[in-house]
Amino acid sequence: MLRIKCPYCGSARDEDEFTFGGPYDRVRPLAPQELSDEQWADFLFTRDNIRGNLLERWRHTFGCRQWFGIERDTVSHEIRRIFTFAEMPRQMSAVNQVDGGLHEAA
Ligand SMILES: [Zn+2]
Repeated sequence: MLRIKCPYCGSARDEDEFTFGGPYDRVRPLAPQELSDEQWADFLFTRDNIRGNLLERWRHTFGCRQWFGIERDTVSHEIRRIFTFAEMPRQMSAVNQVDGGLHEAA
C-alpha cells in the first residue's frame, strides 16, 4: 500500500483515502463524438504500461477532495515527487525537457 502525502493537506495518508485518476498527460478529446469507435475505445482502455517513472493524477477523495499529481516508479512504487497542477506544466513534452526524460525503456 502506498503512503501518499497530499500537497494540500500536508499529511501522509494511506492509499485507500485516494482515487487513482490515470496518467497525468491523458487528456479527454475535445470532440469525442467525432472519433470512431476504435479511437474512443483506445482513449478509454489503452494504456502504455510504462516501466519506470510515470506521472499520475490522484485525488484525495476522503480528505480535501483536491486533484494533484504524483511521479511514481511503476517498478518499485517509490513516490519520487508530489505536486499540485499549478506546479507542473500540462504537456509531458515540457516535463520531459525539465527532467531530461521521465520514461525508462522497458
Ligand atoms: Zn488532501
